[in-house]
Amino acid sequence: MHDFIYNALPGKVVFGCGKLASVKEEVAAMNSGKALVLCTPEQRELAEQVSDLLGELSAGVYDKAVMHVPIETAHAGGDEASRVKAGCTVAVGGGSTIGLAKAIALHQGLPILAIPTTYAGSEMTPVWGITKDGIKTTGRDQNVLPETVIYDPELVTSLPGFITGPSGLNAIAHCVEALYAENANPIISMLAEEGIRAIARSLETAVNEPENLDARSDTLYGAWLAGASLGAVGMSLHHKLCHTLGGSFNLPHAEVHSIVIAYATAYNTPNAQDAIQRVARAMGCDKPEDAPKALHQLVKAVCNKTSLKELGMTEEDLDKAADIAASNPYYNPRPVTREGMRALLGDAFDGREPS
Ligand code: NAD
Repeated sequence: MHDFIYNALPGKVVFGCGKLASVKEEVAAMNSGKALVLCTPEQRELAEQVSDLLGELSAGVYDKAVMHVPIETAHAGGDEASRVKAGCTVAVGGGSTIGLAKAIALHQGLPILAIPTTYAGSEMTPVWGITKDGIKTTGRDQNVLPETVIYDPELVTSLPGFITGPSGLNAIAHCVEALYAENANPIISMLAEEGIRAIARSLETAVNEPENLDARSDTLYGAWLAGASLGAVGMSLHHKLCHTLGGSFNLPHAEVHSIVIAYATAYNTPNAQDAIQRVARAMGCDKPEDAPKALHQLVKAVCNKTSLKELGMTEEDLDKAADIAASNPYYNPRPVTREGMRALLGDAFDGREPS
């Protein structure tokens, strides 16, 4: 076994069907006064329900969360929290809503109770992201890590199949990269492997039967482990590539992750045999070399779009994307070369079976 440092992140998790009902008790336990409930415009109804459950502990609903946390939204949300004298926030939604709560926590120190309704995993990380003048800056700060997280599988049943598939693969991608992280450790590797296993065995059912609570529980459990993995150790090639593709070519976050992960895994397989063996085992295959193909099969089974071409990328973009991906050095089990990136992106562009 290699030497390692394991730094456990604090946080209380309440998991189970119907646990949304405990939100008032949990906000009271945070001892931070009234909560401003945050959501996207689309999830206003659910946020109103949370506000009703909170009763006198609710400071109202703020429904302006949008993708990538524009600085203007962060400031407006913070101003609203001050105006209604909120002492904490309740973020009910996906990574965008939790991102808004984190920005408010960063600027004003308001603790967060998160109620995730996607599989993105932001609720388990101390990572924040704020977009100013079109450029997203990210950072780590323990103050943005939610104090309490309520995982209620019933809330994920409304997530349509076309979001469920990519969102589940996004979570698997966190686990895969945690297994070969530079600062990987045995505790997080256990969580990551189990996260892949839980999502891989239930994602297809969750997509085809959105109301199936066993499948929704299993996938949400896996997403929790994936978020915990993402929050604890560093990510490599896959996440850097997806950041480039999302940021420079404006491609949708979860879909990009779902398409790229099989190719990033194939690229790293020769240099991360032990880690990819664990991915293979979690996906129900024998050899590390089978893992990328199994991931690709899962993408084909649960995602509508399986190539970068279908996401609207053009062939001319591939050279530029390869240049960017190979320009800034960062840790990856296999050295990142311009040629390697161009080949990987070409395969992902066409949605070919990874080799
Ligand atoms: P999202 O939060 O943007 O949600 C996508 C859409 O789905 C929204 O319109 C939302 O209203 C809707 N939605 C969410 N849950 C729903 C449900 N159960 N039923 C119906 N509709 C629902 O998407 P996301 O993928 O969760 O988050 C993506 C964002 O989170 C990105 O900006 C990404 O960078 C960020 N992120 C951050 C971290 C971190 O650690 N900081 C981790 C993962 C993702």
